[in-house]
Amino acid sequence: MTWKNDAELRELIRKAALLNAVQHGGKAQAGPIVGKILGEKVELRTEANELIALVNEVLNEVNGLQVGEQRRIVEEKWPETLRKEKVEEEKKLPLLPNTMRYEQVVTRFSPNPDCVLHLGSARAIILSHEYANLYKGKFILRFEDTDPKVKRPNSEFYDKIRQDLIWLGCKADEEYVQSDRILIYYEYAEKLLLDGNAYVCTCVPDEFRKKTLQNKPCPCRNLPPEKQLERWSRMLDGSYAEGEAVTRVKTALNHPNPAVRDWPALRIIDTNKYPHPRVGNKYRVWPLYNMAAGLDDHLLGITHIIRGKEHLTNGVRQEFMYKHLGWTYPDAIHYGRLKITGAFLSKSKIIQGVRDGTYTGFDDPRLATFAALRKRGITPEAIRKMIIDVGPKTADVTLSWENLYSYNRKLLDPYCDRYFFVPEPVRLNVQDVSKTFHAELPRYPDKPERGYRQYTITPKGTDQEVSFWIARKDVDNIESGVLIRLMELFNIKIEDKNANEVEASFVSESYEDARAVKAKLFQWIAADDVYLCQVFMPDGSVNEGFAESACKTLKPDTVIQFERFGFVRIDETTSKLKAYYAHK
Ligand SMILES: [Zn+2]
Repeated sequence: MTWKNDAELRELIRKAALLNAVQHGGKAQAGPIVGKILGEKVELRTEANELIALVNEVLNEVNGLQVGEQRRIVEEKWPETLRKEKVEEEKKLPLLPNTMRYEQVVTRFSPNPDCVLHLGSARAIILSHEYANLYKGKFILRFEDTDPKVKRPNSEFYDKIRQDLIWLGCKADEEYVQSDRILIYYEYAEKLLLDGNAYVCTCVPDEFRKKTLQNKPCPCRNLPPEKQLERWSRMLDGSYAEGEAVTRVKTALNHPNPAVRDWPALRIIDTNKYPHPRVGNKYRVWPLYNMAAGLDDHLLGITHIIRGKEHLTNGVRQEFMYKHLGWTYPDAIHYGRLKITGAFLSKSKIIQGVRDGTYTGFDDPRLATFAALRKRGITPEAIRKMIIDVGPKTADVTLSWENLYSYNRKLLDPYCDRYFFVPEPVRLNVQDVSKTFHAELPRYPDKPERGYRQYTITPKGTDQEVSFWIARKDVDNIESGVLIRLMELFNIKIEDKNANEVEASFVSESYEDARAVKAKLFQWIAADDVYLCQVFMPDGSVNEGFAESACKTLKPDTVIQFERFGFVRIDETTSKLKAYYAHK
């Protein structure tokens, strides 16, 4: 191997090792460095063992240095890297196993297009896509639409799922649809039958179950291949009706898990009664999950299956089929359950609710669908970051909406301009306003370059009165006599209030006066400056009120922060402002 003496490679490893050491208290770890080098030098993947040896050699040297010395070298030689690495420091995914066995890492996401996608799919999608990316591999989207009866696919969801993936930043490199591949599954079914590795079972399900529980074959199992193929053709030609025959893949009859024994691989569905949305009644024999997914994982060259641990038994089932076909099962990574408290993830209930009008659509803000999250201004980056931080660990994880919101807030906050929204407005009349005020409200605190919203407040009449709108919630919490500051404007004293109106008088202009008495700060809108606004909340309620007139020029899809209210995504700015609430 010539590359072992490659000075450039050695220096690359040294750089990665020093950076890693600096970030981990002086002690660099081999794993991430090997991963990084293999990510950059694809050609070394077939020689990973030699690479690991070289990395260990360099590590010995680097880890032997004092932390201060490591840092000094990095700062001297690669100062920009150190700064960059610091900013980008986020949890890294653990390496995939056995990547050197494959020419290219290939992962997949394989939804049934029977509903739109929701947060419950985020982990499978993002991890599979991220790993493919990490190894410069390939990410495949595979529609698993082979159940036209119970988990019926629907033609509207194929496109919606594609769009969800694009929005999430996880566009597939290749796409397959299982209902296009039925003949391929037939071909393998016939091979398995011919080789005596599968059989067509015509037993009543209860009878079959009784036998398998006693580790005994059913009468169909040992019929010769010719007989099996004859039965198979009767499945295909309609001689058997739905439910009268099923093709089973042979497993160990004494497998400890009875649910694994001789699992069903293909069955009959009366597609005249239950036509498939794409291929109608073209086929009446349909592969079940383990048959279709199992075959495709091999045929599409999937190297790493990243999925929930509820699939462990499916892996065991499929390995029998792989053995029959002389194939090696891909590397499977099973992560634990990810529960998101309060997120509503039942597909059947989502569909039912949309169909019967309980929800306004698949993007109803009460739902945890990607469409709903998008509408509310939750960013795909926040979802991605949260999922990557959780990683593929096997332990169950419980997250809350608040976890997602805090990721989103961190990403959005630096970019979102501030505006005033007054929900449930109550009129406020302020007397004795001494002069005309030119309010300059910064779009973003301490960032004058982002500009200001400007309003002129002119007192009228002998009482020098100015009228505003303030929020009902604020009015409920004040009493006569207290000092209040209208944000970025002036301080007032509450004189009187009733259900519809608040009377106050002007006190002073300076913020210090307000701070000295810890006065409450209220957002306000000048009475003659209103823009009708509706904010749709995640609980299905609507907050109505006034937004300041500067909001009229906002573009749909912008996310802003209504001060003292929360982040909202602008949906429409026509005669009134329609916005969707993201979070505090
Ligand atoms: Zn049988």
